[in-house]
Amino acid sequence: MVAKEKQDLLSALPGVDEVLAWEGVSPLLAQYPRSLVLAGIRLGIDRLRQQILAAPGKVDRVGVDTFPVAIEGTLREYLLQAVTPSLRPVINATGVVLHTNLGRAVLAPAAREQLGQLSRGYCNLELDLETGERGSRYSHVEELLTRITGAQAALVVNNNAAAVLLSLNTLAAGREVLVSRGQLVEIGGSFRIPEVMAWSGCRLVEVGATNKTHLKDYERALGPETALLLKVHTSNYSIMGFTATVAADQLVELGKRRGIPVMEDLGSGVLLDLTPYGLPAEPTVQASVAAGLDVITFSGDKLLGGPQAGIIVGKEAYIGAMKKNPLNRALRIDKTTLAALEATLRLYLSPEDVVGQVPVLEMLTVPAKVLEERAQALARKIGERLGGRVTARVVRDYSQVGGGAMPTAQLPTSVVALESSTISAASLTARLRRGRPAVLARVAAGRVLLDPRTIQEGEEKELWQALERALLGEGN
Ligand SMILES: *Cc1c(COP(=O)(O)O)cnc(C)c1O
Repeated sequence: MVAKEKQDLLSALPGVDEVLAWEGVSPLLAQYPRSLVLAGIRLGIDRLRQQILAAPGKVDRVGVDTFPVAIEGTLREYLLQAVTPSLRPVINATGVVLHTNLGRAVLAPAAREQLGQLSRGYCNLELDLETGERGSRYSHVEELLTRITGAQAALVVNNNAAAVLLSLNTLAAGREVLVSRGQLVEIGGSFRIPEVMAWSGCRLVEVGATNKTHLKDYERALGPETALLLKVHTSNYSIMGFTATVAADQLVELGKRRGIPVMEDLGSGVLLDLTPYGLPAEPTVQASVAAGLDVITFSGDKLLGGPQAGIIVGKEAYIGAMKKNPLNRALRIDKTTLAALEATLRLYLSPEDVVGQVPVLEMLTVPAKVLEERAQALARKIGERLGGRVTARVVRDYSQVGGGAMPTAQLPTSVVALESSTISAASLTARLRRGRPAVLARVAAGRVLLDPRTIQEGEEKELWQALERALLGEGN
């Protein structure tokens, strides 16, 4: 039984046409599609109905006089949501450089520019402008990749998972692939070596033990059905203690001796030795090529710092077969990705300058002193503007590489630690996340941490403005 008071309120709810005629609502039709306005009005009326029905006894704070404000509020919020792109910029203050949920690599200015240029009109994606004949989309990056890595041939696909799938399918479908038990990795999401293997139509043969695999384990498992030896870079974890893996050159030697190709899934695909900057040693693509591997796969948007792509480099015969595999058509890269990838790769032609040109490399190598100065400047600004509401202190901390790359790397940084007496760290981060622009921060020991390492140039002002709104409780 709905109480009389509720009944009265429910029957007083306006109809859609009535709301549409309201002074505050009708002008919205000039700004927004009619269908959206109608949907927003229905939502507004429906929310009120639910609110009335859900009230336990007496209906507080809802009356016929509050209807317009409530319905119009819902409507405006709905319209704003509906016309704001779902995919939008986010300020990354987490300090995780390759944040998979935030789109991994930030593109280089050169790549952004090339993307803009190319998306304005047509391009020579598959046309050889010299001869007028049909060209190959891969030609735009193949030479760059072979020059940079030293490999004979190259191919690019949608992402590294696709690169692994295509390579396995081309080289070993219906036959056996040997993999060390310690390398059956899972990469965030749903990429798992055993599953990719199954989808590519190969039979996985595990060799060795989880912590130790020896060359003789491969030798013993090798048989007439063996089509490929696969080495997987354990990019996102490390095993310590009593361990042994077989080095690439040993596997290559075995493969040569038995006439079987050897492939390596490198994952991150760094093209530059970053140890001079204090980062952990990560196998470079060039080193794998030099070790004689037949096929090497890696991501475009991890340590390389480009768009999402899967890059395959290696021996001509194998890459050629992959290009002809019908599966390649389903995994192929599109022109916008190619444009950004080509521009990013070009930067690697000058290895001495590339760190300053590719944001991922720049963020990973920025000196701790510079980060401290940035944190100080941000804390000062927050103190000036919002001192009454929050305390901002600079403290030492560590950033992460992210993206499943260099899992053990501890990158020293200085963060701005925020504490407020009026709002909890969890609520403040939630408000920051829901704000416009959204700001992603870390929480540790009851404080909100803002790491300048991943805050892009020119984002500071937007950040403290967003913080101001979050502290005032707007947009929560
Ligand atoms: C990241 C990674 C993948 C998957 O690469 P995507 O580009 O994300 O598809 C595969 N293998 C290894 C070893 C990786 O590190």
